[in-house]
Amino acid sequence: MKFKRIREKMVATQIEARGIHDQRVLEAMRKIPRHLFVSEALQDQAYGDFPLPIGEGQTISQPYIVAEMTQALELAKDDRVLELGTGSGYQAAILAELAFRVYTIERIRELFMRARKLLDQLGYHNVVARCSDGTLGWPDESPFDAIIVTAGAPEVPEKLVQQLTMGGRLVIPVGNRFSQRLLKIHRDEDGVHTTDLGGCRFVKLIGNHGWKEG
Ligand code: SAM
Repeated sequence: MKFKRIREKMVATQIEARGIHDQRVLEAMRKIPRHLFVSEALQDQAYGDFPLPIGEGQTISQPYIVAEMTQALELAKDDRVLELGTGSGYQAAILAELAFRVYTIERIRELFMRARKLLDQLGYHNVVARCSDGTLGWPDESPFDAIIVTAGAPEVPEKLVQQLTMGGRLVIPVGNRFSQRLLKIHRDEDGVHTTDLGGCRFVKLIGNHGWKEG
């Protein structure tokens, strides 16, 4: 009950007040118990206007950035979505509320295991999770109506663009190790169209088509 009230306030003051208008996104954020996606010691901070550590040097993103990226994906109920960077599993749960099926990839085994367990406990059976380097995408399950990358990349991995449907959307932070631009890439018959959604700061996307480790 306590968390439900705090969650509603978070959506009103951090998300709606900053211009996120997609009612389905707002509804999903009001519903999902974000505090369960962080350690018990951090639960009281789970609805704050900032990212939080989730272990292994990684973070759960700030609620507003989750909302902004999700809205930009323009998800329909029958869409199939690929997420790179499962992390805590929170973004995957939001996507699972809005789309038909979510494919999510995490490179760190401990995070993958924890997120998989929690998503199962919460009944998100439309989330398929795997532990590997997501920069190669998920060719066997492609094409995807939408792809979201929740770690900062040095450039847009071409493999991901190739795994979009015609009409597909890719949302990805691209830049250097310290700051990135959030890009929305739309693929159609004419080619690829890029929109800059603004500045952001993410942990590194590490892998074959991302940053090298270390
Ligand atoms: N979406 C997550 C959530 O809701 O908690 C937050 C993700 S966190 C900002 C970024 C995640 O991307 C980290 O867990 C990191 O291990 C993961 N990551 C980095 N490079 C990756 C790669 N090549 N493939 C899959 N996951 C990767």
